[in-house]
Amino acid sequence: MSLLTGAVRDAARALSPDELPCYLYDMDALEQHAAAVRAALPPSVELYYAAKANPEREVLRALVPYTDGFEVSSGGELAHVRGAVGPRPLAFGGPGKTPEEIAAALDAGVERFHVESPHELRLLARLVGRHRERSANRPKVLIRFDPPVEADALAGSVLAMGGRPTPFGMDPAEAAEALGQFARGELPDLELAGLHAHMASGLDAHAQLALAEQVVAEAHALAARCGVALRELTVGGGMAVDYTRPGERFDWASFGAGMARLAERFPGPVLRIEPGRALTAYCGWYATQVLDVKRSHGEEFAVVRGGTHHLRTPAAKGHDQPAEVVPVADWEHPPPRPEVRGDRVSFTGQLCTPKDVLARGVPAPGLRAGDRVVFALAGAYAWNISHHDFLMHPPPAVRFLRAGTADAAG
Ligand SMILES: *Cc1c(COP(=O)(O)O)cnc(C)c1O
Repeated sequence: MSLLTGAVRDAARALSPDELPCYLYDMDALEQHAAAVRAALPPSVELYYAAKANPEREVLRALVPYTDGFEVSSGGELAHVRGAVGPRPLAFGGPGKTPEEIAAALDAGVERFHVESPHELRLLARLVGRHRERSANRPKVLIRFDPPVEADALAGSVLAMGGRPTPFGMDPAEAAEALGQFARGELPDLELAGLHAHMASGLDAHAQLALAEQVVAEAHALAARCGVALRELTVGGGMAVDYTRPGERFDWASFGAGMARLAERFPGPVLRIEPGRALTAYCGWYATQVLDVKRSHGEEFAVVRGGTHHLRTPAAKGHDQPAEVVPVADWEHPPPRPEVRGDRVSFTGQLCTPKDVLARGVPAPGLRAGDRVVFALAGAYAWNISHHDFLMHPPPAVRFLRAGTADAAG
């Protein structure tokens, strides 16, 4: 099965060398996927998109019809997402919120704060108190907590943020103390909405659901112990993207069915999820051109225009980025045209470091310099996590492809 959509293949072939590398977003593929995710979830479960996975303006706007809101994790994301999507519900999370960021969030009318620590709760209460001269709104607070979960609940995850000592959220004792302050009426300027947890990324549907069940059960128990009502409960993001099986996707149908059962078992609060990568990873590709093909100590390398300073994902995660070759006939230089002699090649970039490897041992018999290579699953934690300025190569172009319209350069 091809890793490319028709629109992406056509664009990769048509782009000239001086238009490469280029990030290609298939906006129809994004909308179809987001619609399928939304349809797999029970209507009562809210879907927020974690903007840090990919905050491209066009991507955010395309997700508006399929999401209930956006999770932002910095003042920068907050301003950017507000500018891109207008008055959609925002939840402001993340550790180390500064007083300036909180004040800006209050000015922007942010609906929800995911509060990460006792100090942050005091800071927020104080700033809201001051802010009330300007606005009567009481922001909703979700206490981010780190509930005890069974030891193997996070075992399959790629990035665990909870269940062990962590700078994220509050441990059960601190969370109980925070809820107690609400129960005793000590935080009159804030409205307690409920609890929030985000404990791991990279869990499959079965593991994600098992974790959500534990989080929901612990949240209900904690709220009951503290004598507060639970109106909202966010169970996090982290739905897996499997780079070793690019044709497969998180099993949204069984996850959605499980969330429906969970909502029935624990009636009351609105359940919410906030995935990032699993919504957008599949809509982005990094297309480039092979500059050179060479051999070293029995291995073959294809050096491409660009590299991990544009697509850091494989270096950051230590994987091979799924790749597909689009052969082209044109070759602008006199012969010979460098080509692969064996059947496997490693794709490397233009950086002067051995870490600049995009994918190793990719089957690519007959690959020639000048051919296009397109890296898939580059729609999340890709361009935006990359060290763009290292070596001062030019930035990639960006195109948002839509069927039936001339694609728009970004
Ligand atoms: C990063 C993050 C997410 C999204 O994680 P994904 O693995 O991209 O789904 C959701 N919630 C919080 C609090 C995060 O930090």
